[in-house]
Amino acid sequence: KVSIFWYRRDLRLEDNAGLYYALKGTYPVIPVFIFDCQILDKLDNKHDARVEFIHKTLKNLRQQLAGIGSSIMVKYGNPIEVWRDLMKTFDISEVYTNHDYEKYAIDRDRKVGELLNAEGIGFYTYKDQVIFEKNEILTGSKTPYTVFTPYSKKWKDQLNDFYIKSYPTELYFNNFLKTESLPLPSLKDMGFFETGKNFPEKSIDEKTIEDYDKLRDIPSIDGTSRLSVHLRFGTVSIRKLVQKALSLNQIWLNELIWRDFYMNILWHFPHINNAKAFRKEYDEIVWRNNETEFQAWCEGKTGYPIVDAGMRELNETGFMHNRVRMITASFLVKHLLIDWKWGEAYFADKLLDYDFAANNGGWQWAAGSGCDAAPYFRIFNPTAQTQRFDPELKYIRRWVPEVSNFDYPEPIVEHTFARERVLKAYKKALDRK
Ligand code: FAD
Repeated sequence: KVSIFWYRRDLRLEDNAGLYYALKGTYPVIPVFIFDCQILDKLDNKHDARVEFIHKTLKNLRQQLAGIGSSIMVKYGNPIEVWRDLMKTFDISEVYTNHDYEKYAIDRDRKVGELLNAEGIGFYTYKDQVIFEKNEILTGSKTPYTVFTPYSKKWKDQLNDFYIKSYPTELYFNNFLKTESLPLPSLKDMGFFETGKNFPEKSIDEKTIEDYDKLRDIPSIDGTSRLSVHLRFGTVSIRKLVQKALSLNQIWLNELIWRDFYMNILWHFPHINNAKAFRKEYDEIVWRNNETEFQAWCEGKTGYPIVDAGMRELNETGFMHNRVRMITASFLVKHLLIDWKWGEAYFADKLLDYDFAANNGGWQWAAGSGCDAAPYFRIFNPTAQTQRFDPELKYIRRWVPEVSNFDYPEPIVEHTFARERVLKAYKKALDRK
């Protein structure tokens, strides 16, 4: 008999809750990862850095496991069918995995759980991705928080060593199933290619975290951790990062709490999974949805250098600085009056750190339709934002070198005109209530 640990977005050996409980169990553990063809087949661009990142990480895990006489079984297919096959191949006693809060994942896990349970196989799931989940943080009247500041206060009040202590998986590494290295499908086998993109380092730069509050808003400086892709795929542990944040910088801790907050919103308000505004009156806005203007935004050709720089950084690297994410998102929604869901989908396609909860939260924040969003009448002025956060155009020049030319394209829309237009459109929709 064996136990299986099912890896998803928790791709590390150390401090991993589900893996820890699997290894502590009775039977030898074989880790499994499934490249879900239902997700991969939907990706039109087969040069996808995220698939490459996962693949590289699995290769790494496989090597680490080889060092302790074990391996990881990597499959490509429809998870339900893969599980049917695994049940035929192995005499499985138990399956362990970590919670995932997106709708697709919840449905998948329910089906897999039913399939396993029907054969008498235990399916055990754990919190690993966040510090607090589900109903762990509620208001005095037992409702979920929808505003960040009181949520973060409660989060901090409730935090104690128990929630951030590491799971010492290394004590039980002997319990991995002893096996030769198992085959790893190549990217090509799955129809994908290498992208040549660089992935940020996994290491935590303490100096960056210490100076975070001073430098985080300046896009020309590497003043943020660049850990988002690692948090996305679980190559670092959130508990370890919170331990660091507590000793190094409370402002950075707040960012990690924002991450928990949006996951919490996703769990409690599943309607946001279905392309709906968090506040439903915002679904009434009549968008212009001009496709030519959308294209100009995507390509970084709006005539607003800060917006263009951000979009080009995204297109080239799969990353965009947070300040610039806010500016470009606001520009699409407010200046061009294009549905925030178009922007959300474009970011989802391009961001290496794409995460449904954070991305949806960020877009609804920009549109004013989300929880704790910017009030809709507060409209970023790209020129003022540039003066404040990139006054010497250092960031802009990096991505838009032609900015100093006299023939830099005219803005596709004039700021004051756009401002009045969007205010009218929002007011019309919101007044209907
Ligand atoms: P740091 O500033 O060092 O922060 C540390 C970590 O905290 C991040 O890695 C991230 O996991 C978390 N975090 C920080 N800010 C936020 C936030 N506002 N919401 C949730 N978590 C946060 N973040 C994503 O991880 N995935 C996304 O798809 C995503 N889409 C976004 C879309 C828009 C329109 C906006 C405005 C923001 C979005 N963010 C997203 C949040 C934020 O921009 C990134 O997390 C951050 O820029 C990543 O860089 P970093 O790792 O250097 O972050």
